Amino acid sequence: MQIVKGNGPITGEQIAERLNLTRATLRPDLAILTMAGFLDARPRVGYFYAGKKNTVSITESMMNLKVKDFQSKPVLVSEDMMVYDAILRMFSEDVGTLFVIDPQNYLQGVLSRKDLLRTSIGTQDLNKIPVHIIMTRMPNIAYCQRNDSLILAAKKLIEREIDSLPVVQETEKGVEVIGRLTKTSITRAFISLAETHEL
Ligand code: ADP
Repeated sequence: MQIVKGNGPITGEQIAERLNLTRATLRPDLAILTMAGFLDARPRVGYFYAGKKNTVSITESMMNLKVKDFQSKPVLVSEDMMVYDAILRMFSEDVGTLFVIDPQNYLQGVLSRKDLLRTSIGTQDLNKIPVHIIMTRMPNIAYCQRNDSLILAAKKLIEREIDSLPVVQETEKGVEVIGRLTKTSITRAFISLAETHEL
């Protein structure tokens, strides 16, 4: 806010540079400050201070939060990957859910930590079971889109009792995965909201 007050109009890139952050890291904060009415954004000009103070209710700012501002990168694996390798991948990528895609890159399934644990408890050779045998598959996958409200996505997480949703783009041929929305994304949004309304 201070940077924009003192230097506006200023682009997201320039603000990020001053804070030694990437533009991607700053995106949720800028989105919230704009939604809440503290900042105004003009395409190709940048952000400037709008001067409003707490005139927007927390509910209103919450309703305006979008999936695209809080999504993270999806981790995609192929249907014929072995369960053993999927477990390694989950550790190396430090995620709780893997999305399974077909050779055309369309979404086919979801693998959670417990899907992999359940399979590991058995006596099977994990190097011989492909993930498509154990994954939750289409059409039973809950997903969301970039422009959906974060509230809608959060409701899906709660109603389906799951940890994450693929963020997708629907095409005639199938569903392409472009992001991942998790309980952590919602928690991050929750913190940003609190911080914005402290201003
Ligand atoms: P965990 O099983 O590690 O607690 P989840 O609660 O996310 O993680 O997953 C519970 C079950 O729901 C798993 O069998 C998983 O395959 C499935 N699942 C996870 N995400 C989705 C989703 N977006 N749509 C449908 N099913 C899902």
